[in-house]
Amino acid sequence: MTYDSNNIFAKILRGEIPNKTVYEDEQVLAFHDISAAAPVHVLVIPKGEYVSFDDFLGKASAETVHGFFERVRKVAHIVEAQEGGYRLITNHGRNASQSVPHFHVHILGGRALGGLLPGDALVR
Ligand code: 5GP
Repeated sequence: MTYDSNNIFAKILRGEIPNKTVYEDEQVLAFHDISAAAPVHVLVIPKGEYVSFDDFLGKASAETVHGFFERVRKVAHIVEAQEGGYRLITNHGRNASQSVPHFHVHILGGRALGGLLPGDALVR
C-alpha cells in the first residue's frame, strides 16, 4: 500500500489546511469532521503515514497500535461521549467507501445512532 502524502489529512497534519482540534500529542491528532454525521463526530488520526486500518495494523508496532487506541478512548472521554455511548468506524478500501487514504477512526455519538448500517442491513 503506497501512502499518498497529498491526501487531505496529510495536509491537515502539515498545517496546510485548518482543522478544529479536539486533542493533539506527539502521536495523534483528533479533530471535528467537516461534515458531521452526528452531534459528536470526531476523527482520530495517527501522525505516522498509514493508508488505512489494514495498513496500520500491518506496519505499526503493538505499542503504537495500543497507544493509538488508548488515545481514541481518551478523545471519546474529552468529548464526553462515553456516558451516552459512542460508535467507532474505520473504513478500509473501496467496499467501505474510504474517501481519505490516511488511517482514521470516526468517533460518533451524541444521539441514538440506530442500526449498524444505514437502511436494509441484510446481506444480499
Ligand atoms: P472516510 O470516508 O474516509 O472514512 O472518512 C473521511 C472523513 O473525512 C469524512 O467523514 C469527511 O467528512 C472528512 N473530511 C474530508 N475532508 C475533510 C477536511 O478537510 N476536514 C475535516 N475536518 N474533515 C474532512
